[in-house]
Amino acid sequence: MNIVIAGAGYAGTVAANLLARKGRGLKVTVVSPHSEFVERVRLHQEIAGSGPATRPLSEMLDSRVVHRKAAVEKVGDGVVELSDGTSLDFDRMIYAVGSSAAAPEGTLAVGDVDQAREAARRLRALEEGATVTVVGAGLTGIEAASEIAEQRPDLAVRLVGDEIGASLGDAARRRVVEVLSSLGVEVVRGTWTAVDNSDLTLWAVAAQAGDLAARSGLDTDETGRVRVDPQLRSTSHPNVYAVGDTAAVAGTRASCQAALPQGAHAAKNVLAELRGDEPKPFSMSFVGQNVSLGRQNAVIQHAHRNDVPTRIWFGGRPGAYFKEQVCRFAATSARKGSAVTIPGPR
Ligand SMILES: Cc1cc2nc3c(=O)[nH]c(=O)nc-3n(C[C@H](O)[C@H](O)[C@H](O)COP(=O)(O)OP(=O)(O)OC[C@H]3O[C@@H](n4cnc5c(N)ncnc54)[C@H](O)[C@@H]3O)c2cc1C
Repeated sequence: MNIVIAGAGYAGTVAANLLARKGRGLKVTVVSPHSEFVERVRLHQEIAGSGPATRPLSEMLDSRVVHRKAAVEKVGDGVVELSDGTSLDFDRMIYAVGSSAAAPEGTLAVGDVDQAREAARRLRALEEGATVTVVGAGLTGIEAASEIAEQRPDLAVRLVGDEIGASLGDAARRRVVEVLSSLGVEVVRGTWTAVDNSDLTLWAVAAQAGDLAARSGLDTDETGRVRVDPQLRSTSHPNVYAVGDTAAVAGTRASCQAALPQGAHAAKNVLAELRGDEPKPFSMSFVGQNVSLGRQNAVIQHAHRNDVPTRIWFGGRPGAYFKEQVCRFAATSARKGSAVTIPGPR
């Protein structure tokens, strides 16, 4: 039986490794244009020079998984067309191509590995007193601005957005603002305009699904994400499971916290189908959000099971330590083909 997995991020990698380890008689092929596994949660570190965000994909994939270095160009009925002009037949597919940040001209997207590397090169070349603007004051923008300010205190770092850390609770948000201020980050509330006189402008506004699914005729929602049934199967193509940022899974948001359990669940459902069992509905609870504020600080926000922030949070060095462990745990889960899933609220 041929299983094709499109994408080797958190969702695709955990699915491939779980299938390779637990499935018998399966040929598992991962299609990904990069030979590296990108820890997207560390791309702000890649930019600031405080740590790499990539490692060889061969270190992450089980040796029984075949990696095809190409992009999926089209998903057809039991066949995918690849960017190298070839095609692959599949019995089941796991569609896990993530999301991409469409950065306006003159800016570089924090969430894209190639643009993050370019940003790192340009940042290194900036001289004392130069200005860096980060657009988007959600968690990714906060992480990018604070990481750069900590690593390059000689630069003027500016964070532009309507509201700082809107998804956090009030107390955690206040702490984020305090730490940004202590790092010398200038917070500019409002909408960014293309003329900002900055020496480097980084784009940290929410990423979107690409057009591959819609182009392929998969049923998508208004944001381009693949519509799925409770078992994570495409509502139009039941032999295709869709997971991670690219899937419209009810009750979840784009995060590796959701991508890992979804990838693992889709893989388990493929195995269930092989045994002749019914695939099971997906269910998960969020546990919170964590935002790094440089290497020495962070804010860890606890959440109710429906992802609404509680009053519980902590920060400082314990927060930074916790956040680092979360990032390591996410990569290790993908490599081991296992994910911790707390069942969702009823
Ligand atoms: C700076 C930053 C910090 C973050 N911090 C957190 C955090 O603390 N906690 C959290 O939960 N989330 C965080 N996120 C979000 C998290 O990284 C994403 O939600 C997560 O990576 C989604 O996983 P995924 O597997 O769906 O997609 P990705 O990890 O983006 O992987 C997608 C894969 O698909 C491949 N691909 C793309 N197009 C194709 C194609 N056509 N054919 C084949 N392959 C393709 C890509 O190359 C990649 O390998 C952060 C994101 C950023 C940018």
